Amino acid sequence: MALLPVSEARARILANVKPLPAEPVKLADALGRVLAVTVKASRDQPPFASSAMDGYAVRGADVITVPVTLRVIGTSAAGHAFTGKVKPGEAARIFTGAPLPGGADTVVIQENTESKAPSSVTVLETARPGQNVRARGLDFARGDVLLPAGICLNARDIGLAAATNAPILRVRRKPLVALFATGDELVEPGNKPRKDQIVSSNCSALMIMARYFGADVINLGIVRDSLAATMRTIAKAREADILVTSGGASVGDHDFVQEALKRSGVKLDFWKIAMRPGKPFMYGRRGRQHVMGLPGNPVSALVCARLFLKPLLDAFLGLPDDPPMEAKLATPMKANDGREDYVRATLAIAPDGARTVTPFPKQDSSMQRTFRAAHCLIIRGPHAPEAPAGVMTPILMLDF
Ligand code: AMP
Ligand code: MG
Repeated sequence: MALLPVSEARARILANVKPLPAEPVKLADALGRVLAVTVKASRDQPPFASSAMDGYAVRGADVITVPVTLRVIGTSAAGHAFTGKVKPGEAARIFTGAPLPGGADTVVIQENTESKAPSSVTVLETARPGQNVRARGLDFARGDVLLPAGICLNARDIGLAAATNAPILRVRRKPLVALFATGDELVEPGNKPRKDQIVSSNCSALMIMARYFGADVINLGIVRDSLAATMRTIAKAREADILVTSGGASVGDHDFVQEALKRSGVKLDFWKIAMRPGKPFMYGRRGRQHVMGLPGNPVSALVCARLFLKPLLDAFLGLPDDPPMEAKLATPMKANDGREDYVRATLAIAPDGARTVTPFPKQDSSMQRTFRAAHCLIIRGPHAPEAPAGVMTPILMLDF
């Protein structure tokens, strides 16, 4: 099988993927969830003309010429409306958030008044008619679109939903990802590796990454390099929307994942990608389940997850693809071969906003430290010609 271009692999993975159904969620649990339906205002905010300051509600015409002394006929406080009407020559004591009494159209702040007795107030400074009054519906009016469908909810979104008295929101169900790592050399973090073993890092990183991109995760842990063990674990992942495996994806004597997937009913679509890192990336489907076999090398695994798992999660959640970015090469780069190259790099942003990328000199796919320190990946297309310093290059931000 020829190596499949990255873009074609992604297109095949995303073919016919529809957003998952909506489910209700309480505001307290809505952070980061993707809104499935537009939220419209069910009421006006504020629901009545209200005072923006502490002071006196007056008729604007009464305070054109100052000083003027007015009769105080009552008090309107937040949550305690004054039901009387302010007539010419009258005022009502008023506090922030309180309904403006009938007849009044202006609030004079208390700093601009003097009151010797509760029944009267002298206005010392004139006020513009309507000053310090929030009109009914200033913030939003019944029927206004407050939150569009398809956004990832943040604290401000949730506050606005609360303000319009929507205690429950309809959000996309989270895709369920099941994952496991394969390898006789692996132990879980916190255990004592034998001399010939290493600590498994892929499950930890992939689990957090999938959650960060909106999924629920079942971590099935480490599976030994055996066909039977791999098949037993694949069987445990039935419920998942996406099964992700790490390692054992090549064709070595100890690589059982491809065979185990096939024998478990997965129809493999492709298993080799024209990219670096991450050539041995497998993809297939088992019924409605998507299956991704990631390479074991940590950097390859995570770059493949970013390139293929993230867009699939986005599609399940109804989120748009994030747009590509560009930056200027700080150093020249050699001509590329037929594999699309994802090169770990640091990104510097100058005060004028100009972005410059510098690749790390060593790019071995086992080196997690440079992956951790990288800000982005420089994308070098298949057969990209030699690139001198200063040319613009596409980059993929590493924001997970
Ligand atoms: P494999 O794809 O199974 O041939 O593994 C390729 C390389 O990645 C080997 O050096 C493995 O030891 C390493 N590797 C595989 N799985 C993991 C993992 N879960 N965490 C860290 N390294 C791994
Ligand atoms: Mg292995």
